[in-house]
Amino acid sequence: MENIKIKEIIAKGYINPSKLPGTDYVINPYVGCPHRCMYCYAEFMKRFSNHDEPWGTFTDVKIRSTSSRPVDLRGKNVFLSSVTDCYNPLEEKYALTRKLLQQLRYSGAAVTILTKSALVLRDMDVLKQLPDVTVGFSINTTDDAFRQDTEPFAACVPERLNALKTLHENGIRTWVHVSPIFPYLSDWKAVLEAAGPFTDRFSFENLKLRAASLPRVLLYINRRHPQLLKAYEDIYKHDGSAFWRALRKEILAYCNRGRLSAEVQFSAKDPAQD
Ligand code: SF4
Repeated sequence: MENIKIKEIIAKGYINPSKLPGTDYVINPYVGCPHRCMYCYAEFMKRFSNHDEPWGTFTDVKIRSTSSRPVDLRGKNVFLSSVTDCYNPLEEKYALTRKLLQQLRYSGAAVTILTKSALVLRDMDVLKQLPDVTVGFSINTTDDAFRQDTEPFAACVPERLNALKTLHENGIRTWVHVSPIFPYLSDWKAVLEAAGPFTDRFSFENLKLRAASLPRVLLYINRRHPQLLKAYEDIYKHDGSAFWRALRKEILAYCNRGRLSAEVQFSAKDPAQD
């Protein structure tokens, strides 16, 4: 967590309606994310958060909310988190996610968590009290050198897999989001093999690059995987649809054969594309 500017703020509220598929509400206890993933999809949030600093170098902590308006969550799906990691390292100190989960215990909501951190295990006691909860990890590789390149401040792959196993052994429903799939680099079959015994379902999402992340990722490919540069340029500067169509088919066939529950969420653009 070097060189992260941390600010405590008072938020208008913690819970917001969401247009994400299968999600009624999202909770983002932090603005910004110290995990600094190279491809981060949440970077567009800078536009709304009055920050000039580069994404990944600041995090605002929503220590309080001014809203006392109760939200009826009975039968609703609540997702943590869409534009931060709710278990980023600041959560160790602030425990905002923990407090929010405690408040959700009797809300009647189905809660889904997605993280890249094993810190979620700290809250096992609260997770066990939630009547409907699924905890997911984003894992797009088993190659920790590649993980280190692209997600330098998130938990290493073995830590995420161990946390997944612990959750599963404690009766928590688990999910692995194989995302983002980097063309020719994400060894998704190895992820399925490693996580399969502890995972109730898989979802897959392709790497989508925005104006801010495209040059960053292409520079990385040129430096570390130059043999793939042309293929990346073809996919991201021209038309990658044939590549993703073929991969979708391959993933679904592979998961059908292995009787794995899988959903492929490939698209050319993500909903908040700039
Ligand atoms: S964990 Fe998620 S929100 Fe945080 S930097 Fe990585 S992609 Fe962005």
